[in-house]
Amino acid sequence: MNRERKSIGQIKQITSPSNTIIKNIKGLQLKKNRDAEGLFACEGLKLVINAIDNGWNMKTLIYAHNLTDQPHFLNIAAKARTNGTDLLEVSEKVLGSLTRRDNPQLVVGVFFQKCTELSSIKLGTNDFWIGLDRVRDPGNLGTIIRTADCVGAKGVLLIGDSTDPWSLEAVRATMGSIFNIEIVRCGQSEFIKWRVEWDGLVIGTHLKGAVDYRSIDYHNKPVLVLMGNEQNGLPEDLVSLCTDNVLIPMAGKADSLNLAIATGIIAFEARRTYLKMPKNISVN
Ligand code: SAM
Repeated sequence: MNRERKSIGQIKQITSPSNTIIKNIKGLQLKKNRDAEGLFACEGLKLVINAIDNGWNMKTLIYAHNLTDQPHFLNIAAKARTNGTDLLEVSEKVLGSLTRRDNPQLVVGVFFQKCTELSSIKLGTNDFWIGLDRVRDPGNLGTIIRTADCVGAKGVLLIGDSTDPWSLEAVRATMGSIFNIEIVRCGQSEFIKWRVEWDGLVIGTHLKGAVDYRSIDYHNKPVLVLMGNEQNGLPEDLVSLCTDNVLIPMAGKADSLNLAIATGIIAFEARRTYLKMPKNISVN
């Protein structure tokens, strides 16, 4: 008989933003603390429920004291506690101090970070991945993770020195999609070595791309699209290992598209035949 028992999470009530536990959670706004503890914070009941349903490991659940009469919330709190999550029932002032918002969410979850190793990626026919070279802007990264989720991508590869996917701003912009897809982080040279193993398309996107992105046959093979850094675009080392380098043709006078918008355009084109209209839809 298995006698191993998970410990039940503690419940505490906190009203002061200067409480040490609250200060430590606030400290997760700094990357060095997130890195040291392997944790990150996420706001909103819906997102926290989605994370738990997807098997993410939550260390602490912080919630407004007035939520305790909502059966929906109590259900999730009980589930979290059985999994060993500590529960903090707090005042709105405390929640406001955690999220730096005037109208704070009523729930914040502190989760353990989870990344996939590059070497453990398994290639499946029709798998779609997005590779980002040194992405700098957390809003762009979060939007791209959300877009990747929307097109049914397996995950997002962060190549080189990238912005932190676990920052509050990036997590906010994912709108919960960070819990739905895989996140991989790797150095450029590690990626270049791994690319040899990738038996599928690697499509670079480049302002000097010679091929129209609509002319590629993306179907029935694994596809990785590579997006360049916001300021400098894709470096030659990455351009040279692509199957094709494509351009999204533009009119007008702008030099380029925003990185997240360009990713959305190519991702929806690459996944076009896999995206089906839902049944029983009627708005007229
Ligand atoms: N100054 C940079 C350059 O010269 O490449 C602009 C980079 S752009 C803001 C960021 C990334 O978005 C590019 O590296 C590319 O991956 C993608 N991108 C933006 N506009 C594009 C276009 N029209 N065609 C293909 N890719 C594009």
